[in-house]
Amino acid sequence: MKQTLIRGKLLLDGTGKPAIDGGGILIEGERIVCVGKTEEIMQRADPVQVVDLSGQTLLPGLIDCHNHLSLDPRLENYLHRMADPIAALTLRACETMQIDLRSGVTTSRCLGDKGFLDVECKKAVSEGRIEGPRLLIATRGIRVSHGHGFVGYPFDGVDQMRVAVRENLMRGADVIKFYATGTLKGEGNITSFISKEEIEVIIEEAHRAGVRTAVHCIGGIGLRWCIESGVDSIEHGYFISDEEINLLAKSKSWLVLTPSIFLTDARIQTLPPELIEGHYQQRELATERMTAAIKAGLRFGVGTDGMHGGLAKEIEYLTQMGASESDALMAATRSAASVCGLEKEIGTLEPGKLADIIGVEGNPLKDITSIGKLRTVILNGKIKHSNCNKRTAS
Ligand SMILES: [Zn+2]
Repeated sequence: MKQTLIRGKLLLDGTGKPAIDGGGILIEGERIVCVGKTEEIMQRADPVQVVDLSGQTLLPGLIDCHNHLSLDPRLENYLHRMADPIAALTLRACETMQIDLRSGVTTSRCLGDKGFLDVECKKAVSEGRIEGPRLLIATRGIRVSHGHGFVGYPFDGVDQMRVAVRENLMRGADVIKFYATGTLKGEGNITSFISKEEIEVIIEEAHRAGVRTAVHCIGGIGLRWCIESGVDSIEHGYFISDEEINLLAKSKSWLVLTPSIFLTDARIQTLPPELIEGHYQQRELATERMTAAIKAGLRFGVGTDGMHGGLAKEIEYLTQMGASESDALMAATRSAASVCGLEKEIGTLEPGKLADIIGVEGNPLKDITSIGKLRTVILNGKIKHSNCNKRTAS
């Protein structure tokens, strides 16, 4: 098969190894053949095509660990807009997928959408009928009747939980998403809407099918129950206590941070009016607790929670909360691949992995905002977006 050399200025393979000056990637079809100095690759191989990105830093494609296709904070009252007709939500998803892809997101883990629209979007993307990142989907988010979850559906009691998980799996869920808590902290302890028994059944059903579980949880007793029941990722963790940080550190669960809901003014302002004040009031505490989680050395990934095109900004927030540039980048590459269970396929630029590559201006290890200066997106070895690159046949 024909091989293509992608020539960069600098290459960060995402494994934590030092950057390669004059680095390049040899690809064949959708996979990486080798990574190294361009000159050395040229001596060993005879690529039919060279993609010249020699002004750019090459990195692994970004992975959004927590997304929703049809949630769109550009809309006024955007949480309530999840009640729009499914057709409208699906059209919205078609647009947001393009925005995500063009911002460098090559894999998107979607943790709940309406009407199984994510099933159809995933099919359309994988069949090449529509542009978008590779999708991992949760189908219906599972919440209890009196609990939080604008993108979820209500189920109550262990029997309904069992059926909900099984139906989601039947429809093609790659991950099971459920809700334990709200997003804002009330007075006193953080309550869990869902019972321990319901949590156990959800996780047991998913794990028996070999599928991971992700829980919307800001902290409190629900976090403890989820960890004890073996949940694979705690989503958000905005108000995680020191004690809960210790609990999480001893477990195999990941923390997926989604800072923009508390840190981006534009996003808070399009929340339903009754929620705006609370987000401003709790911004400082949420920032402090996310910072504590990062500084404690927890394993973390990062997601936009539907802030489409904004993953670079979420990564930047991580550095503001104490993460090193390298760890912040890994939260959307190598660590993110592990959150998704796809560490053998994506997340780093290594031989045999899928050729998901982005090219940016500058070196993100020195200036994290360079991830936002995106020039090229390559998904499965195909250029999906390019800004000022020139291609030369050799
Ligand atoms: Zn979410």
